[in-house]
Amino acid sequence: MDNGALGSEAPKQMTFSAQILTLYPDMFPGPLGASLAGRALEEGKWSCNAIQMRDFATDKHKSVDDTPAGGGAGMVLRADVMASAVDHALEQQPDAPILAMTPRGKPLTQARVRDISAGPGVTILCGRFEGFDERIFDARPIEQVSIGDYILSGGEMGALVLLDACIRLLPGVMGASSSGDDESFETGLLEYPQFTRPQKWEGRIIPEVLRSGDHAKIAAWRKQRAEEDTRLRRPDLWEHHRDAPDQSPSGAQGQKKEDRS
Ligand code: SAH
Repeated sequence: MDNGALGSEAPKQMTFSAQILTLYPDMFPGPLGASLAGRALEEGKWSCNAIQMRDFATDKHKSVDDTPAGGGAGMVLRADVMASAVDHALEQQPDAPILAMTPRGKPLTQARVRDISAGPGVTILCGRFEGFDERIFDARPIEQVSIGDYILSGGEMGALVLLDACIRLLPGVMGASSSGDDESFETGLLEYPQFTRPQKWEGRIIPEVLRSGDHAKIAAWRKQRAEEDTRLRRPDLWEHHRDAPDQSPSGAQGQKKEDRS
């Protein structure tokens, strides 16, 4: 039902539903039970359903893993057990994308996070041990995602990272200050540096322009610093930004920045 008081501006009040397939369901919601995400969970803006993937094992030992074909250390998550867990998740939530956490996956980006958070929810398959039997990725519509070029002990932390990034973008979660248009990566650039009181601290003074009250000058300074810092710290992002056809930040949302002030 539309909330009449908010008129046509009212965001759809849908619950973003997170399903997590894991050997450690107790890890959820974990840190997402606190702060912004925790409040949003209480308010029903998102739901968290952690599913024990061992429940889909069929042998009497409830085994989910086996030794790697070809030899080598560790254990590998079985494709048949993973498939049953994924099929169950698909039945529960046919329209949500299914992501598997793996360092072999595509690096997660803010653009992908935004897409996911605009949808009905997400199912996340968390690896452990040496990861998954590769055949699961041929057999089911699974998107392989990495949260960075380092190795975690399991996919659960990655799932928490992904969910945190999505939840803060859900309507009404972040409060008024922030559709986050200026934030790092939203514009293809890092954000400009931030300062707050005291104006002078250990002999260091907040840049004069930020105290000038001149909004045009401040915007120009921030743009220049965002560009400069991106060029120096993240040449990869800078190159991409320069090559991209004239981008307005966050598409249509970028236009609103001036209207808002
Ligand atoms: N042998 C694998 C690493 C397994 S780490 C390899 O070298 O590629 C165990 C599990 O932790 C993975 O299956 C995955 O679910 C999770 N994981 C580890 N690092 C990750 C990362 N950078 N991004 C996402 N998930 C990760």
